[in-house]
Amino acid sequence: MDCQSWPVNDIFLSKFNYLFLQDHDALELNGANLGDLTNDIHPLFSRENFLVFDEKYQVLMPTLRLASRILTDMSSITFFHALIYGRNDILGGGMTETYGRPCFTFNRQETPLTPLQFKDTFDTLENLASFVKFRTNPLLTTMNSWGCTSGNADIVHPMGGLGSYIDINPIFLYHLGSGRLSVSERLRIQLILAITLCHECTHAIGFAAYPRDPDEIGAAIVEPFFENHRLAELGSAFEDFVFGGIIDPMAEQTDCCYGLIIEGWPGNRVPVTREGAVPVPVRTDIPVPAFSTRYLIPMTWVQAVHSTAFWDDVARLKETSLKAPTTTGYRFVNSDSGHIYEEGYVLE
Ligand SMILES: [Zn+2]
Repeated sequence: MDCQSWPVNDIFLSKFNYLFLQDHDALELNGANLGDLTNDIHPLFSRENFLVFDEKYQVLMPTLRLASRILTDMSSITFFHALIYGRNDILGGGMTETYGRPCFTFNRQETPLTPLQFKDTFDTLENLASFVKFRTNPLLTTMNSWGCTSGNADIVHPMGGLGSYIDINPIFLYHLGSGRLSVSERLRIQLILAITLCHECTHAIGFAAYPRDPDEIGAAIVEPFFENHRLAELGSAFEDFVFGGIIDPMAEQTDCCYGLIIEGWPGNRVPVTREGAVPVPVRTDIPVPAFSTRYLIPMTWVQAVHSTAFWDDVARLKETSLKAPTTTGYRFVNSDSGHIYEEGYVLE
């Protein structure tokens, strides 16, 4: 473990220690290996779509294979289908007046996708490759942001929206290229980066499928709400639908040296609006939950998703197949100032 000191100011880590995390399969996995994914890279993640040096693209290959698997899983395609075809009427309750533009919701259909619907959305995703470019942006490192998607006004998508630029935080590439990681740390970083890429692709689908006014182009985006979500953030809604929450590096350490956590979304989160951007809409008719639960991500699962056997599992082709295991964690009381540790609610 490279981390210099135990970050006791982190609400989760302040209650646990190295031994607890190690004993609960969150850190170093015995016999960890780099996995055996050999699947094709999705056209969205092709070489020509990455505006980075060749050696950086090579470092990304295992991550891109994993991201390609996640992006085309039944659960992801189900979410993307809802985003493209499940749009509902404009939200009332003064939302349009408050945010200066119409606010939509979108819902998944009640029945599983038919093979034709799956193929249609799958093909739309492949075709999106000509409308998206990936870049690295060092500013994201300063902002402690994993990725950011903005509309590309030069490219109009047939669905009526725009193409996108997807910026990713180069710190992950730096870590993966550094050669100082344990195998377990490398697997965790690859998973976080793969999820980040799929999160940002979800925003790109939103940009393509939802036409905007000319003055909305750029980082200022107002996205639709998924079902009864209190906040509108497409990438987070995607992660919650597919994995059962947001998977993040513990204590926001980009080298993932303390392991990974998952927490349901939106929970008690508040919207983050970039300076100069239009405010992220909030549904005030939906209450903030009283509690949030944060779980450790087991390394056995992180290892499994890097294996061909995991993805070849026929039973996996269900919408819930990518839900992360939630066995060890603890519950927080949500307050105006964020999470408060609740004594006695460690879950194992
Ligand atoms: Zn996002």
